[in-house]
Amino acid sequence: MPKSCPRCRSERVIYCHYGKRVGGVIGTVAGAISGTATTTASGAAAGARFGMYAGSVAGPAGFSAGAVLGAITGGLAGCIAGIRLGKVLDEQFFCQFRCLDCYAHF
Ligand SMILES: [Zn+2]
Repeated sequence: MPKSCPRCRSERVIYCHYGKRVGGVIGTVAGAISGTATTTASGAAAGARFGMYAGSVAGPAGFSAGAVLGAITGGLAGCIAGIRLGKVLDEQFFCQFRCLDCYAHF
């Protein structure tokens, strides 16, 4: 979409994604934390099952693998949710465009 700077009339403007970036980071961290917390229990159960099946001490390994997997999937889900929220913030609150010639935000 062609847009021009309201200050210097330059057409060299870029779209900023401040809210999206911040939202993505916050969402990833929050999602990873909650993902670890909610998956730890099931990860431990899966690890224990695997440990019995393998007949070894895979229980603790399965436990941490479950937690890591939970953190990854939780982080990913949180990142997507954060980006969605950030997109809304971008549209509602933040300056969406930046001029490359006079650095004005508008
Ligand atoms: Zn400008």
